[in-house]
Amino acid sequence: MERKQFELGDIVQMKKVHPCGSNEMIVIRMGMDIRMKCAGCGHSILLPRAKFEKNMKKVIGKSELTDGWKED
Ligand SMILES: [Zn+2]
Repeated sequence: MERKQFELGDIVQMKKVHPCGSNEMIVIRMGMDIRMKCAGCGHSILLPRAKFEKNMKKVIGKSELTDGWKED
């Protein structure tokens, strides 16, 4: 299976819809775990990379709003 390509600041579409109704997430931190922020409600979610790659459908765009989100 092809490995999914994504990078920091990418807006990705997930297979699973967030309770707020949005399935778009923005990647805000990459490592062993991927931290992403829901584009709908702003909630941040931490997922192991394997799970993230499984749940991610595709990259749909780029966000330029990651600067202020690097660390909590
Ligand atoms: Zn949400």
